[in-house]
Amino acid sequence: MDARRTRAAAGALSVLGFLGLGLSGCASRARAKTIVPAAEPSPRAVATCPPSSESPLARADSPRERIVELGRSINGAPLELHVFGDAGRPTFVFGGIHGSEPTSAYVAGRLVEYLRENPEAYAGTSVAVLPEANPDGLERRSRTNARRVDLNRNFPARNWHRGSKRSSNYGGPAAASEPETRALIRAVEVLRPARIVTIHAMNGDQCNNFDGPARHLAEIMRQHNRYPVRRSIGYPTPGSFGNWAGVDRGIPTITLELRQGRSGPRCWAENENALLAVIRAGVESVAR
Ligand SMILES: [Zn+2]
Repeated sequence: MDARRTRAAAGALSVLGFLGLGLSGCASRARAKTIVPAAEPSPRAVATCPPSSESPLARADSPRERIVELGRSINGAPLELHVFGDAGRPTFVFGGIHGSEPTSAYVAGRLVEYLRENPEAYAGTSVAVLPEANPDGLERRSRTNARRVDLNRNFPARNWHRGSKRSSNYGGPAAASEPETRALIRAVEVLRPARIVTIHAMNGDQCNNFDGPARHLAEIMRQHNRYPVRRSIGYPTPGSFGNWAGVDRGIPTITLELRQGRSGPRCWAENENALLAVIRAGVESVAR
């Protein structure tokens, strides 16, 4: 165990140098606060860091979970990315960017637990999951981060605008002004994901909203979760992650909208197969 931790620490340092990310303490991070309320992380969840390499997705001895700290929130909470597998360009999934939508973090956390127990789910592909993109907001159950910025309006999309400071959709003093936003940007730049699912919850109808070339992924998800496919959620979202990643950068991006008020376990039950199907789409695109 000690030898493994030493190797992990050495890997962390080399990856830290490459990424310029606040990567640290991978093994001990496995015990960090989890958003999954049902249970503590299992002993099997002890993280390993990537070996000396140029990428957090570089080949490891075995397909194991690696935990990368992307950065810290305003209040100092770690922003932890869980990486599984090493083949191909990954599927990137994150939840909890709006702290008032805790079921989104719950579902992403359940996905991490599932992948820990079921490595066949990402055989031939890779997955990276950030369950809590806005831990300070989740703590307070507020939409915004600790500086009252709506992180999902803070991305440097072409349509970003500041908006009103008094609004719960405040875009921040500048695009990418918030550390949580910058952590997500770094995750996308380093991972170069082939597809992204960002999980939210909204009042009204649940849906598979998509930005960029992602209609096919939204249709795959619909087959499993039965949520309608929507190109627009009906109102403008300047500076949203979907605009930045999907529209401006052309990365297939799904905004999975859960139904606000529905329980986390029910949301997971509805979406487990949809999320696994999107991950499997990575295998099919490699095989094609
Ligand atoms: Zn949201």
